[in-house]
Amino acid sequence: MYLFIHRKDLRTSDLRAFDYLRGKDTEGIHLLIIDPVLTGGGRLNSHSGRNFAEQVASLLHSYANAGKELHILYGDPVQITEALLQAHPIDEVVVHADYTPYSRSRDERLQLTVRNMGRHWKPLFDVPLADLEAFPAFSRRSEPYKVFTPFYRMWSSYMLQSYSPMGDAAVDHLTTVREINGKLASQFALPEPVAGALGGTTSVGGAMKSTDALERFVRERLAAYAVSRDAYAEDHTSGIARFLNTGAISARQAYEATQGLPGAEAWLRQLAWRDFYLYQAMYHEDYFRYEQLTDLSPLTDAYLEAWATGATGIPIIDAAMTQLNRTGQMPNRLRMVTAMFLTKNLLCPFMLGEQHFRIHLSDYDNTLNRGGWLWCSSLGYDAAPYFRIMNPSTQSRTHDPDGDYIRRWLPHLAHLSDKEIHQPLSNAIVDLKASRARAIDVYKTILK
Ligand SMILES: Cc1cc2nc3c(=O)[nH]c(=O)nc-3n(C[C@H](O)[C@H](O)[C@H](O)COP(=O)(O)OP(=O)(O)OC[C@H]3O[C@@H](n4cnc5c(N)ncnc54)[C@H](O)[C@@H]3O)c2cc1C
Repeated sequence: MYLFIHRKDLRTSDLRAFDYLRGKDTEGIHLLIIDPVLTGGGRLNSHSGRNFAEQVASLLHSYANAGKELHILYGDPVQITEALLQAHPIDEVVVHADYTPYSRSRDERLQLTVRNMGRHWKPLFDVPLADLEAFPAFSRRSEPYKVFTPFYRMWSSYMLQSYSPMGDAAVDHLTTVREINGKLASQFALPEPVAGALGGTTSVGGAMKSTDALERFVRERLAAYAVSRDAYAEDHTSGIARFLNTGAISARQAYEATQGLPGAEAWLRQLAWRDFYLYQAMYHEDYFRYEQLTDLSPLTDAYLEAWATGATGIPIIDAAMTQLNRTGQMPNRLRMVTAMFLTKNLLCPFMLGEQHFRIHLSDYDNTLNRGGWLWCSSLGYDAAPYFRIMNPSTQSRTHDPDGDYIRRWLPHLAHLSDKEIHQPLSNAIVDLKASRARAIDVYKTILK
């Protein structure tokens, strides 16, 4: 018997683990652990928490549709695994690995427990599009890439020569254990508020929705993606990040759906950025600790609240933060503009903005969010030069000349003319030109 633990792979087909388990031909317990470390502090009620709950509901639905069983338990993954290994004749624990600091330490503890109990520990690699475990040998480099462009060149060759396509094993091909030890099931049962948060979602259509979103994007928007992706007043991008990050859809499915189609190259480049950040999390140990390596003491949180609540007096910033806080969404271009504004014009440490996005983004992902914030704050290996600071008003004028986006999210400014609507209001908390010059001076010192 095996134990398979779902993580960022909330789907029932095209999982590397299922390809592996199909070959074993034995029954297994399929488990999802709701880990209080990851879901505590009200996370389940945040936008990303609700997205997660929706995908969990969908996963349960897919298992039930296939006549299979998924168990959901609440608690410390090590304690739960240990209890299951004691209660059931499990000889192997199978998971998909992840590379955030918490995932690494959790899996080290898990691995130790499993091995100490004389069982086999089998981590597999599923989250990136390219096999980033095999990639270093393919690229024949002793040092990991630090810059996106050469990484992308090698990554593109890898995809042509060594890409491993979607797997055809699905949960239908596996035999799942119906019942687990009753004492254990009640010991690690979901507490009422957690069960409520997970059960509170009425939607069970995650898998279908993710496929619909992808198909619609390919049909209607892919061809023009390169030219229209930054025209954020309308939806021109795929919107699949929230499905990719829970694993409701695999990066392979996204890639294969667009192969050979007009526009695919520009979109694929974005999937390569995703892989680039995942790669950095795997191979650069500083990725998650820049704040400890850099002296950020000249920075301040004085304006954080105004930024976070959309009260800066810069219309495009306030509109974007309003959309984020209300819906959990913000287009990529505006993530860059708001993050640069916070870290540069408002001289705020990037981790505070990162934390706000963590709570509010529907598609929040620790690794990708950090990559975006490092880039905008000119930290990390391949970041925006510290003197290249986006001017929010210019960005707004360029990408949404009619100001439709601002009018939608800040209706009290809707009466302004197309020219006025992009301009800072009279009560703006900083002067764009002066704060830009100050940021260049300060970052020159920080980064020296
Ligand atoms: C400050 C900041 C924070 C960010 N935080 C997150 C986050 O928490 N989670 C997240 O998924 N993305 C994050 N991004 C990246 C990007 O903004 C989103 O992936 C994108 O807006 C999602 O929309 P989409 O699915 O329509 O993307 P599309 O434009 O359709 O792109 C397809 C896919 O490519 C990937 N992708 C696109 N742009 C980027 C990028 N700049 N970097 C890495 N991968 C990318 C995503 O997986 C995306 O779903 C952040 C960017 C910045 C600047």
